[in-house]
Amino acid sequence: MIFMKIICVGRNYADHAKELKNEVPTEPVIFMKPKSALLPQGKALYYPEFTEDLHYECELVVKITGNGKYIQEKFAHKYYGEVSLGIDFTARDLQDKQKKKGLPWEIAKAFDGSAVVGNFVPITSETDVHNIAFVLYKNGEMVQKGHTRDMIFSVDKIIAYVSKFFTLNIGDLIFTGTPAGVGPVLPGDKLEGYMQGNKVLEVEVK
Ligand code: MG
Repeated sequence: MIFMKIICVGRNYADHAKELKNEVPTEPVIFMKPKSALLPQGKALYYPEFTEDLHYECELVVKITGNGKYIQEKFAHKYYGEVSLGIDFTARDLQDKQKKKGLPWEIAKAFDGSAVVGNFVPITSETDVHNIAFVLYKNGEMVQKGHTRDMIFSVDKIIAYVSKFFTLNIGDLIFTGTPAGVGPVLPGDKLEGYMQGNKVLEVEVK
């Protein structure tokens, strides 16, 4: 995982773009999180002192299993082998401030612990990343329900697009965007993510 980078897609579900009053994009919106953003597995996220509006965003996460650049969409599936769910934690108040000024988002989205990743599941001949249902529960209540067929840019399209700019390396992670239903968390909250009915992610906020 030496070369690991975390590439994220923003506004990849029309219903979520709408809920945040963003336009539906004609090209993928890409940002990154550094390796230090990855919350170690099994650890809780401590509510950061710089925000008063920390939001969860549950997303399908794809793990890159082949090195490549300028990957064609039709070959993209050869470059990932595992999927899971992740939380793209966002300091929404900071992000809104940055967006208004036209400034980069990193302080709102790439801080320590802002990338939570669940257990990866290998992709088999029966797994189609473009046909995965996923659900997020907050304190036992369903808050997000997504399906990868509703992505504006499919996983293969995302890989083709981002690999024009960034070499993809084994171990890189791609957060593929969140469906509608994002919302705040508070200390004491517990998030649980299910992919195709199987629990793959759990994280607590402290
Ligand atoms: Mg997101």
